[in-house]
Amino acid sequence: MRTPLIAANWKMHKTQPEADEFLLKLMKLAPRLTEVEVVIIPSFVALSKVAELTKSTDFKLGAQDLFWEEAGAYTGEVSALMLKEVGCQFVIIGHSERRKYFGETDELIAKKLAAALMAGLIPILCIGENEQQREGGITLAVLRDQLTACLKDIGLAAGSRMVVAYEPVWAIGTGRTASQDQAEEAQNYIREMLKELCGEELAQGTRILYGGSVTPDNIAGFMRMPDIDGALVGGASLQPDSFAQIINYDRAAK
Ligand code: PEP
Repeated sequence: MRTPLIAANWKMHKTQPEADEFLLKLMKLAPRLTEVEVVIIPSFVALSKVAELTKSTDFKLGAQDLFWEEAGAYTGEVSALMLKEVGCQFVIIGHSERRKYFGETDELIAKKLAAALMAGLIPILCIGENEQQREGGITLAVLRDQLTACLKDIGLAAGSRMVVAYEPVWAIGTGRTASQDQAEEAQNYIREMLKELCGEELAQGTRILYGGSVTPDNIAGFMRMPDIDGALVGGASLQPDSFAQIINYDRAAK
């Protein structure tokens, strides 16, 4: 049984006072979280504030990235141990915006994934095809290549704590979602790949999220699909009302 996971990726949004205001409102709208795990993922500089605000609540904390070394002369970077220290349990690895704007390759992502697992963080590994690749009919091949390359440095036991997010690049922040069938096809394939690479038990236990223009109107439909175990939410996680509706999606859906 995989506990559904909904993660709020705030990207480069929300100052500390804005985070404060958001969380006060959200906790009124969703005071207790049952049957779903929810992670708030603010910018690095808001992590301590959000850690403090979520301390005695059901909300968990995550970061948007990390660097793979433990410490050293890496100006501007943040290590897995630093994230743990501030209270993070989760970390996004390989988001398509990092691949696009910061040149992250599968090779770098593999190192970050291994560092996160080594430090005891739960990585949310993002993979997904771009529009050209989907139109060219190579979506599943792209997912296979990304997953194989990103998992190459991790051991089986460590991998069991990982979350995978299927995020078609053309659906991120565009208002164009994958259909439920497109998402399910990709996510079922990811589970099959996990089985092939890491074994049945790990594949069945790994949560696979969908990300790409998730809203209060489409979340229940996605959650109804057998291989969709939650969502990575960008835009709709910035308003307490819409994010609370997503968290409180119709559980009868699954
Ligand atoms: C994301 O940032 O991972 C994302 C899916 O964004 P959005 O929900 O805005 O498409």
